[in-house]
Amino acid sequence: MSQKLILVLNCGSSSLKGAVLNNDNGDVLLSCLGEKLGLPDAYITFKVNGEKQKVELKEQPNHTGAVGALLDELKKLGLDSQIAAIGHRVVSGGEKYSESMLVTDEVIQAIEACIPLAPLHNPANLLGIRAAQDIFKGLPNVVVFDTAFHQSMPAHAYTYAIPRKYYRELGLRRYGMHGTSYRYVADEAARFLGKDKNNLKLVIAHLGNGASIAAVRNGKSMDTSMGLTPLEGLVMGTRSGDIDPSVFSFLANNAGLNIQQITDILNKESGLLGVSELSNDCRTIEEEALKGHEGAVLALEMFSYRLAKYVAAMGVAAGGIDAVVFTGGIGENSDIIRAKVLNYCEFLGLKVDEERNIAARFGKDGVITTDDSRVISVVIPTNEELMIANDTARLTGL
Ligand code: ADP
Repeated sequence: MSQKLILVLNCGSSSLKGAVLNNDNGDVLLSCLGEKLGLPDAYITFKVNGEKQKVELKEQPNHTGAVGALLDELKKLGLDSQIAAIGHRVVSGGEKYSESMLVTDEVIQAIEACIPLAPLHNPANLLGIRAAQDIFKGLPNVVVFDTAFHQSMPAHAYTYAIPRKYYRELGLRRYGMHGTSYRYVADEAARFLGKDKNNLKLVIAHLGNGASIAAVRNGKSMDTSMGLTPLEGLVMGTRSGDIDPSVFSFLANNAGLNIQQITDILNKESGLLGVSELSNDCRTIEEEALKGHEGAVLALEMFSYRLAKYVAAMGVAAGGIDAVVFTGGIGENSDIIRAKVLNYCEFLGLKVDEERNIAARFGKDGVITTDDSRVISVVIPTNEELMIANDTARLTGL
């Protein structure tokens, strides 16, 4: 039976994550991961019906080669003619875009203009768009921006307290990330709670390798913890989150490091990894903390404490809290972190229900607070691919 399918692409500088979705029911028919793109030993792995298969990209070891191999795989499966449109994750749309867009020359130029705001990501996202235009000739492409959802933040939330000329001249302000996830989870949370999203105050924590939290009031982002870049805010896998900016001059003067080295340390060697001196992976941290590893215990507590402080802060931004929502790999799976955060926030009226919290551990959605809590907390699994597919279908009239 013929169906209309959407290809969703999420490109990094040397990677490509792809999924083919049936937009009617959200089923994923194929997923793939291209790695080492740009190096001679690039490859792509396909997953279809639980079966994995690896293809070396010898002739064209780059993004275009990966998308070409994806088309070949779709041909083998007889699905190529059913792909109706392609949706791309793009990290920064700056201040220009507060919603997803059909790709045109003007949109491509705007994504290029935002490269200074996302120097690692936007160029990679453009590689994916060009590869898709090359290989899937004639199909419409749609871009879904990570920053778009947060464009509703008020100026007092997005402005840094530094001379305003840097905002005027360079666009230096807070933009936030994970917008696609927040938009999806906010809608799902309203549905799950049986509430009107236009009359709902949510604090949503998206906790993956990168982690952030957002205040969503009446379906609109009011504030979020990530800023100009994804380094600000929570403690993350390898990122420090909030830090005194004077750490830069302190390390430069006392450890002889330059700006790039310090930036790398804060992005790649900090967070759970830096504090535990063990791992950036939350599962490992939890296992070792249970065994009493001092660094892991401290890292876990710092992650939870910073997050709890931000829950309260986001309550200010949302003008109150109807529900605290956990999502992302850690939010959906770590009952330990959820319990710690809710315990810190008990004064807000959140009381964790231990049984419900543990029952929600395998990525299931569900309430994790007691019935007599004044504020409810729920786990809602995110699905950014489906959100991108939905936007792509809507903007291409499918
Ligand atoms: P990404 O930001 O790369 O999309 P994910 O949302 O997949 O990341 O989240 C990855 C994180 O989720 C890792 O830190 C991983 O340890 C954590 N995680 C996954 N499963 C569990 C679990 N059962 N318990 C605790 N943490 C988990």
